[in-house]
Amino acid sequence: MAEGDTIMRLALRMQASLAGERIRAACPSSREPEGRPVASLDGRALESAESRGKHLLLRFSEGLVLHSHLGMKGAWHLYRPGERWRLPPSRAWISISGERAEAVNFSGTSMRIVRESELARDRRLARLGPDVLAPELSEERAAAALRGAGPEAELGEALLDQTLLAGIGNIFKSEGCFAAEINPWRRLGDLSDTELRRVAGATRELMLTAVRSGRAPRSVHRRAGMPCPSCRGPIESRAQGDAARITYWCPRCQR
Ligand SMILES: [Zn+2]
Repeated sequence: MAEGDTIMRLALRMQASLAGERIRAACPSSREPEGRPVASLDGRALESAESRGKHLLLRFSEGLVLHSHLGMKGAWHLYRPGERWRLPPSRAWISISGERAEAVNFSGTSMRIVRESELARDRRLARLGPDVLAPELSEERAAAALRGAGPEAELGEALLDQTLLAGIGNIFKSEGCFAAEINPWRRLGDLSDTELRRVAGATRELMLTAVRSGRAPRSVHRRAGMPCPSCRGPIESRAQGDAARITYWCPRCQR
């Protein structure tokens, strides 16, 4: 699943390669976005591309916004004009083309074309906590946001709750806890402010590094039974929370 780092990297690349251009927009398959038809974007200038947690917002001239969420399996691909797509057009939801680049969405879960005023009323966006990657977000504020989960919540669950902090997904949940040397099964009521700030700060730093590199860290994620890169002991894995997302951790290094 694309996490906040992937969406921010995508927004930065779209901003660099498509912003300022008049856009040709099309639906290569029969699947249309919600809200206004794709033709309403055609010929407008793309003004900006922005990530908010795992949501992507493309702002067009005269107040239209394309709001996309990739869900578990979706992806945006960026191509040079005329370059062959890596997936068949029948699986593409929308394509946005300028002079220098073409962005194509495959298999997302949500795609809407709305006015800025409608976006302001979107309940999914309104419920998001502060973006873990926002430049102005301090470790103190991020830790305070996580406290909103309540003392009984497990750290790994709280990190995935987009209403507390937006943008963290399953990879960075495990990797952030590993980098901070804190056990993801501990309850928030048992964590000091220093520890919570350490987890928030480590997770954010790993994600910012991934925005720059395009690669997620893999110290523990999907490495169950393999040696911990730090102590060489076996990495453990277990489903956590109501959604039963798998958490990976080293019981020796993470206390
Ligand atoms: Zn270890």
